[in-house]
Amino acid sequence: MAAPETRLFINGEFVPSISGKTFPVYNPTTEEKVADIFEGDAEDVNVAVTAAENAFPAWKSLSAHERIDKCLKFAELIARDQLEIAALDAQNVGIPVSVNHFYIQRAIQDIRHTAGLAHDVHGETSLNTPGQINITLRQPYGVCAAILAWNAPVVIFTAKVIPCVVAGNTIIVKSSEKAPLSALKLGALAAEAGFPPGVINILSGFGHTVGAALSSHMKIRKLTFTGSTRAGKLIQEAAAKSNLKSIALELGGKNPLIVFPDCDIEEAAGSAAAGLKFNSGQICVSNSRIYAHKDIFQKFLKAFSEKFAESKFGSPLEPTTFFGPQADKLQFDQILKYIEQAKSAGANLVTGGSRATEKGYYIQPTVFAKVPATAHLLHEEVFGPVAVIQEFETEEEVIAECNKTEYGLHASVYSKDISRACRVATALETGMVSVNSSGGSGAYDMPFGGWKQSGNGRELGKLGLEAFYEIKMVSITL
Ligand code: NAD
Repeated sequence: MAAPETRLFINGEFVPSISGKTFPVYNPTTEEKVADIFEGDAEDVNVAVTAAENAFPAWKSLSAHERIDKCLKFAELIARDQLEIAALDAQNVGIPVSVNHFYIQRAIQDIRHTAGLAHDVHGETSLNTPGQINITLRQPYGVCAAILAWNAPVVIFTAKVIPCVVAGNTIIVKSSEKAPLSALKLGALAAEAGFPPGVINILSGFGHTVGAALSSHMKIRKLTFTGSTRAGKLIQEAAAKSNLKSIALELGGKNPLIVFPDCDIEEAAGSAAAGLKFNSGQICVSNSRIYAHKDIFQKFLKAFSEKFAESKFGSPLEPTTFFGPQADKLQFDQILKYIEQAKSAGANLVTGGSRATEKGYYIQPTVFAKVPATAHLLHEEVFGPVAVIQEFETEEEVIAECNKTEYGLHASVYSKDISRACRVATALETGMVSVNSSGGSGAYDMPFGGWKQSGNGRELGKLGLEAFYEIKMVSITL
């Protein structure tokens, strides 16, 4: 593979950062340095905003067909280079190519679907006021920004960038400092797809510098963010203190999964284990909090623990590897800290509980059962392969327990009783509920997002596209 691109992508070309500063990224499997990446700063943000501002008038004036064609070409190029993209993420953040295959296919589907929807963005008309015809127009915001997390770099990129630009906006993307490489590759593909210079700009760098400069920039009118609740709050605050830009937040979760006794226990255990093992537990909708009914608690615990523990560790570059390392040393240390804290809080460790290999940031799939309330991992997002399995007796009790959190991203319910499943799904305070599956439903035409402190706004589908238009009411007096 050729040496990866490490410069910033601004105004249609790759350029070094103004300061010339770089930061290293490491391979979490080998712990060796992969590359030195040019580090953007507030000055680079200003240059990128000017490029995006200059590109906006011509870009928004194109027909929807012309913008859609570029998006479809972009999808085609991602499909062409998917192995290279997956290899970059495998080396950069340890995402197994088998896992990224799923993400990249999903990104391609999302682009095609969103591009199709863009043909049908319309306003409303009203004749309710005598003597007037009233209409609404949907118009792009102008210069937008996206700040990305690292755990599914391609799909997070496309879920934000495509609806943004197909609507006629221009964008500055800040990739995660953990995962800059695949984002830069997507910049090269955007140029090849024919997006004019300045429509899509990509900056590598850190949250407190590039991220903060984007959040408080006076010329950016909309910002879409995926990441932690902590950073989401800082971004919202910076927006409020600057130009009150519109903010969409896709944040963390502490997602409950409920197992009622009438479901197929083996199947539920397998599906729950697969859900939490996916991307080594590093997904926002991972079901890290499991509630099993007392009548089947022991049976479920045994089946889940066995299936969860049988993980084939390996190089993320091998197509047969499903379970890779954690993304970096920071994530790895943080997860081990949660595990140690739970042990000292008296949580019952069923399996796992330590690092899995001498080299590389691999962690054993870990299960704790009947965890005391003092264990932090019962309430906080761990973002690793660590499950908590609690026992419950009544439907009311488990709903109350699931909702006892400031997070509200995703929940799962396993039951063959459709009335119960629907009743519980309605009562859960989350933006998404999966019945008889553990998340990541694959429903590309449905909205994705959270309630409470898991975020606001929705990505994907019709709502995800509509979020990138301002609405204007025009009143015509006859
Ligand atoms: P993070 O919040 O540490 O970083 C996310 C991004 O925000 C990075 O690009 C970072 O540089 C930037 N950032 C950090 N501080 C900032 C600041 N003060 N101002 C502006 N930008 C700032 O999160 P992460 O570790 O990259 O990602 C993991 C988190 O993302 C988890 O909480 C996970 O649940 C969440 N996530 C949510 C979704 C979703 O759709 N809801 C999807 C994936 C990940």
